[in-house]
Amino acid sequence: MKILQNPWPNPALSIFEQAQSPLTLESTSGKFTIDPDTNLRMYVCGITPYDATHLGHAATYLTFDLINRFSRLIGSSVHFVENITDIDEPLLERAARDGTDWESLAQKETDLFSRDMEALRVLSPEWFVPATQTMDLVDQAITKMEEGGFVYLVDNDLYFRTSLFLSELPISEAEAIAIFRERGGDPDRAGKEHPLDSLLWLANKNDEPGWSSSHGFGRPGWHIECAVISLRYLLGENYLAGDSTRSALIDIQGGGSDLIFPHHFMSAIQVKAMTGQQFARGYVHTGMVGLDGEKMSKSKGNLVFVSKLLAEGIDPVVIRFALLQSHYSEDRMWSNEILDSAQGEVERIRSALSRNEVAPTAELGTEIISALSQNLDTPKVMALLQSWVKATEDGVIGGSTGELSRLLDSALGLAF
Ligand code: ZN
Repeated sequence: MKILQNPWPNPALSIFEQAQSPLTLESTSGKFTIDPDTNLRMYVCGITPYDATHLGHAATYLTFDLINRFSRLIGSSVHFVENITDIDEPLLERAARDGTDWESLAQKETDLFSRDMEALRVLSPEWFVPATQTMDLVDQAITKMEEGGFVYLVDNDLYFRTSLFLSELPISEAEAIAIFRERGGDPDRAGKEHPLDSLLWLANKNDEPGWSSSHGFGRPGWHIECAVISLRYLLGENYLAGDSTRSALIDIQGGGSDLIFPHHFMSAIQVKAMTGQQFARGYVHTGMVGLDGEKMSKSKGNLVFVSKLLAEGIDPVVIRFALLQSHYSEDRMWSNEILDSAQGEVERIRSALSRNEVAPTAELGTEIISALSQNLDTPKVMALLQSWVKATEDGVIGGSTGELSRLLDSALGLAF
């Protein structure tokens, strides 16, 4: 797979004079703001392309799309990087199960992901970077960490000394070990110095794919992949030197709440080991999406895929609208009723926007921007829109639909 710049076309965004308020976000490391003069560096953990994009993915990328859009609307410059984990255990397992080769599977699913994102009007990342194209970066990063004494060998595999950063754990050590075990870690491996030490480089075994490096033939661990891709593509070629002009190297590290630990914690301490600096100013996480009262997961086989909804003829605006009804940080449930209700709401808004006389819009625009600026309060935006539709249906006049349509399109990605 190739490194891609702006992998899918971006729609044009309008600029709004009244949109001057900074964006305040609540992250796992506290509140922080994005100001109009912020040169925003945002990294969002991408997919492992062994299956299609499900609604949990869509909800996550939609959230960072709102941050991207709002930051642009207030005039900040946005640098947004996303990775593709195109070499990992689940991908190899799925390819073996389906009797296909892992590279074609990764390419096919990444292409499908890009089409889904374009249909949902998610602005494309500036850089979309497959892990397989970063072996030299990983190699350099491991060498730098070795020089600092952060690396040791177990058999032929390289491990990172998480034990040097235990005081930074967001949870107790026992809890951390339990979660690490659940989420793909190997706390019980013999020969490790500490259960939480994480894999940096896996020596080649059997006939699995591998790459030559100064650390042997093999492939990188997951956390180091995101650490180096984010730094290289947001800071530039000299990324291992850090950036002394900033207190944290990037502004946002983002992903689903299942990445808080271990993935984002591990990436952050590896970045600190490489550069001596704090990784992100804010860690922003999105809630999980369930289906009909159950957790949505590949093991339960109840994933709802975006491409399947689109193939059934569901308007992408309806999917986007339905996902925006919940707050990004909350876990939420998906159901056919939510989709049907969103369909009805979208039709009502379209009908209201097509009238010659509509309820006042100037204040509504200001209120929508204000709600978004406060940690992306989309439920409030939806309530404001509903009141406006109701007032319009009741015959209240005095507004103009042009400005409102442009705002909904630019700020929320809703092209009615
Ligand atoms: Zn990641």
